[in-house]
Amino acid sequence: MNEKTPFFRDTWVEIDLDQLIKNLKQIEKHLPSEMKIFAVVKANAYGHGDVQIGRAALQAGAYGLAVAFLDEAISLRKKGIMSPILVLGASRPTDAHIAAQYNISLTVFQKEWLEQAESHLNKEQKLLVHVKCDTGMGRIGVREISDLKEIESFLHHSDRFQFEGLFTHFATADELDQQYYNQQLFKFKEMVAALNEKPPFIHCANSATSLRFDQSEFNAVRYGIGMYGLSPSEEMKSVLPFPLHEVFSLHTRISNVKKVPPGEGVSYGSVYKTEQEEWIGTLQIGYADGWIRKLQGQEVLVEGERVPIVGRICMDQCMIKLKHEVPIGTKATLIGKQGTEYISMDEIAKKLETINYEIPCLISTRIPRVYIQHGEIIEVDNRLI
Ligand SMILES: *Cc1c(COP(=O)(O)O)cnc(C)c1O
Repeated sequence: MNEKTPFFRDTWVEIDLDQLIKNLKQIEKHLPSEMKIFAVVKANAYGHGDVQIGRAALQAGAYGLAVAFLDEAISLRKKGIMSPILVLGASRPTDAHIAAQYNISLTVFQKEWLEQAESHLNKEQKLLVHVKCDTGMGRIGVREISDLKEIESFLHHSDRFQFEGLFTHFATADELDQQYYNQQLFKFKEMVAALNEKPPFIHCANSATSLRFDQSEFNAVRYGIGMYGLSPSEEMKSVLPFPLHEVFSLHTRISNVKKVPPGEGVSYGSVYKTEQEEWIGTLQIGYADGWIRKLQGQEVLVEGERVPIVGRICMDQCMIKLKHEVPIGTKATLIGKQGTEYISMDEIAKKLETINYEIPCLISTRIPRVYIQHGEIIEVDNRLI
């Protein structure tokens, strides 16, 4: 980064929108034509930045955006996003008029909710709703066909709602064993068939489903993790129809370099002691940035080579053991590429015994996001100042 960029700590996330667009173009080509893509940008676009990712996804051909909560949807509207926005999670019936005011589609699954919401919508308002079916995820949704039919009839007889979509969500689409997936799919098709009239959107696919299973019976998908260039699971890597390109990378610059004699402690608790004379570098990133203490021992890239984090990770800083002296300001890459070396999101997820989804969500907004398009910086989002 040069001195013109509006952040003053040399630690940043790079969001490569060219990779995002590549990932989206590939899924568009892979899906049947006319398929509508809802780009899933919940949780600040999995930590990538919701409005920047949303804008780029819409430019790349996405039909609309999907988020988890009404607050996230309103935030996008306030930042100027005009496209369709679908809230995937539950909202309060007492907030129905707010969703209608912002032209945001809500997910519904209880008749009582609709009855209550109806009284909170005024005469000029029409709330767009997608009815969620719980076919085996066990989270939210209508489970019985009889309940679905009651909801359909209620929507049909009310002027306050527009029945825009019907959907479900799979619990195991990223696992190679397809039995439970098939069971859920069968149940969903039964529920679709039970409707008197089909709404404009029938959708069931997350990334794993979009990448693996034929969607020609449906007309929309909800595409999240694949857009960010990450595989929905480890086991799915062997069946991906095309390569995915990681969008998110994490970098810092070494702020201090020192020669430490043998037997000296490094960081809290002195749990790491130098064995010989060692070159120790200090990085301005710590657990308050989401670079959590469990990442002690994880490698980072310096001059294209792997070097380990030594000693405990502090709130704002951590130390690495260098191979030799390097100049202050040398770039260290914690997630991403340097030369031929690569630290993937999956490597960090493995170290933390979790899934790749969790990692970019974990990297806090204390770290500015730098947006790259056509190989150039187009925007810096620093939430601090
Ligand atoms: C988060 C979410 C998605 C996106 O899932 P990915 O695996 O990231 O593609 C789709 N549908 C629902 C209901 C979700 O909550």
